[in-house]
Amino acid sequence: MMRLARSLAESMNIKNERVITAVGSIPRDIFVDEAFSLRAFSDDALPIGWGQTISKVSTVLRMTDLLDPSPEEKVLEIGTGSGFQLAALALLCKSVYSVERVGALAVRAKDLMNRLGLFGVHIKTADGSKGWSQHAPYDKIIVTAAALSGKVPEPLLEQLAIGGRLVVPVEEDGGQVLKLVLRESEDLWREHRLDRVKFVPLVEGLQKRGVEQR
Ligand code: SAH
Repeated sequence: MMRLARSLAESMNIKNERVITAVGSIPRDIFVDEAFSLRAFSDDALPIGWGQTISKVSTVLRMTDLLDPSPEEKVLEIGTGSGFQLAALALLCKSVYSVERVGALAVRAKDLMNRLGLFGVHIKTADGSKGWSQHAPYDKIIVTAAALSGKVPEPLLEQLAIGGRLVVPVEEDGGQVLKLVLRESEDLWREHRLDRVKFVPLVEGLQKRGVEQR
């Protein structure tokens, strides 16, 4: 995994050693279904059940590099999914709060965090477009599902600390674009439009039991 993270980082011109080491030290095979474990150490997005996917390693590197997390920070992640991105963040920050709308994925991710002995990680099942107000403000916020409304959900902007950074894919002109939002003051957020990306949608509301099959 370290070799893959290093070679991807090199080709993407990512220089943050802490980020590369964190992503490279997570055993990605335990985050995907067993049938795909051989492909875990390639730069593929792979199915994790419930119609969701684990992000490509290059995507995790890019987003984590943009987030630029430091050891004393508190981070919010929306879309726990497999928990792979979360595990990398747990190594990089003081605490990470992660929200996932599919209960079964949240349960599995919690189990994986325990198996890896990662602490300072909190996961809840809820609609992440509302954020997690109880522990706000967050120094950094990362959203790993695309806001189809074309807008960054308002509660996430509110829960970002002044001086904080938010990385979020947003639907735009029939495609998706990765946005970096910097909160400069109480009422000023500056947006930068970056890469074209492809994420599963950020779905509002909780998963209805029995409607979505594995
Ligand atoms: N970060 C993940 C990738 C997640 S895929 C990883 O490293 O594997 C996106 C995830 O966002 C899916 O698990 C999906 O269920 C979740 N999701 C979609 N809409 C959501 C919402 N409104 N609130 C919380 N999670 C959501």
